[in-house]
Amino acid sequence: VKIQVSDTLCCGHGRCYSLVPELFSSDDDGYCAERHVVLDVPAGADHLAAAGVEACPEGAITIVPDVEETPT
Ligand code: SF4
Repeated sequence: VKIQVSDTLCCGHGRCYSLVPELFSSDDDGYCAERHVVLDVPAGADHLAAAGVEACPEGAITIVPDVEETPT
């Protein structure tokens, strides 16, 4: 799966990168550094993606089902 962090919903609580540092990190302002990208979750780490979704009090993290890549 992939995960996406909403640029508009992320308020910089830092729970994602505090609780799931394997997937999330902080930018210089304390916001989730991954909020501008769709993040590939490594194989076997789906439980970490789910933990990130649960950790975010803003509901800013969503799991994106694997789909065919579309050209950008
Ligand atoms: S827990 Fe949610 S609101 Fe907090 S930094 Fe992470 S994505 Fe942003």
